[in-house]
Amino acid sequence: MRLILLGPPGAGKGTQAQRIIQRYEIPQLSTGDMLRAAVAAGTEIGKRAQAVMDAGQLVSDEIVVGIVAERIEEADAKRGFVLDGFPRTLAQAEALDRMLDQKGLSIDCVIEFKVDEEALVGRIARRAAETEAAGLPVRKDDNPEVFRKRLKEFRDSTAAVAPFYRERGLLHAIDGMQPVDTVTQSITRVLDEECGVA
Ligand code: AMP
Repeated sequence: MRLILLGPPGAGKGTQAQRIIQRYEIPQLSTGDMLRAAVAAGTEIGKRAQAVMDAGQLVSDEIVVGIVAERIEEADAKRGFVLDGFPRTLAQAEALDRMLDQKGLSIDCVIEFKVDEEALVGRIARRAAETEAAGLPVRKDDNPEVFRKRLKEFRDSTAAVAPFYRERGLLHAIDGMQPVDTVTQSITRVLDEECGVA
């Protein structure tokens, strides 16, 4: 199964991806996680991405498409994957399509998280507070000011991604403001009944 989770930052994509990968035994491919790992490791890509990420802006399509292309070649992604945080621009969606097409593969399902953006600002503040309370490092881009920039970036750049998949009959919306378990149930229902990938 090849699945895309689409929605603004803080919508719960990462949390739901964790549950999906357990149920379907496929890896989660989070470009945010991969970029943060590159920053932590001090790689060339990490150095190029760090300032852009800290400012809440989007890393270039070239970098992100490159890391996804490499990642989906790995053995664990052969059976499928959950993409979380990618594609974020129309150019990324088109590049992904070409990448998969060359392998005779395609996306099975795109799940769009519908959320209330103002409520997300509160959610992200909680995520930062919980992370801090657990003694873990807080993401620099999880403060309200940068978070609002990330939301704007989502509206400006990622708005074009949903129509791309809607036109292809792959887009399925769920209410991301429901309790976490209810969101999981909604996703499972979409996968089973609408995308037929159970
Ligand atoms: P996330 O963890 O998905 O919220 O991503 C954190 C940050 O990583 C974003 O604010 C961007 O700076 C960068 N990033 C992650 N995924 C992408 C992507 N697909 N395209 C461009 N930048 C990305």
